[in-house]
Amino acid sequence: MTSVRSVTVSSGLSIDRVSGLINEARQVPSPNCDDRPEDAAIDLVVVHSISLPPAEFGGPWIDALFTNTLDPQLHPYFREIHRMRVSSHLLIRRDGELVQYVPLHRRAWHAGASCFAGRERCNDFSIGIELEGTDEDPYEVAQYQRLAAVIAVLEKVYPEVTRDRLAGHSDIAPGRKTDPGSAFEWARLEHELERIA
Ligand SMILES: [Zn+2]
Repeated sequence: MTSVRSVTVSSGLSIDRVSGLINEARQVPSPNCDDRPEDAAIDLVVVHSISLPPAEFGGPWIDALFTNTLDPQLHPYFREIHRMRVSSHLLIRRDGELVQYVPLHRRAWHAGASCFAGRERCNDFSIGIELEGTDEDPYEVAQYQRLAAVIAVLEKVYPEVTRDRLAGHSDIAPGRKTDPGSAFEWARLEHELERIA
């Protein structure tokens, strides 16, 4: 019901429509966001993967990257990326923990040059979800379950986010991006979504 401020689904997640925050997520506000274009409908979810340093899991470095506090001294790879001004709305860690960096109604900077169904600049109209992982390492069951829960609650608040409007970063930026990689099983996500429905 659109009049209800907070929308909850059986997945156990709820969205505060005013703040654009998922109540159950750990909040780590990122300055790397701005307003979406006026009247931009939110009708796409982009699935990404990230790990910092590459292929290492569990550290605090993704939070640091998205809050512009990544220390370039700590790893050669950090030296390459620490000046990037990027973010995503959400991150799902290996254990299923949900972290939010940007309110859902704001524009996060996750997609870069991109195109979905003939529309460019996917940041304008999408919600970006990072999975902690690599293109090759199998994602955890807890991550599929949490991702399905997030999509289920997003569908309630943003009815234009339908099942055919879920894309990988590699789908909207082919040739430039490969995440979430061959390790990501869309059929498995589908399965988890059906369990929630
Ligand atoms: Zn990506």
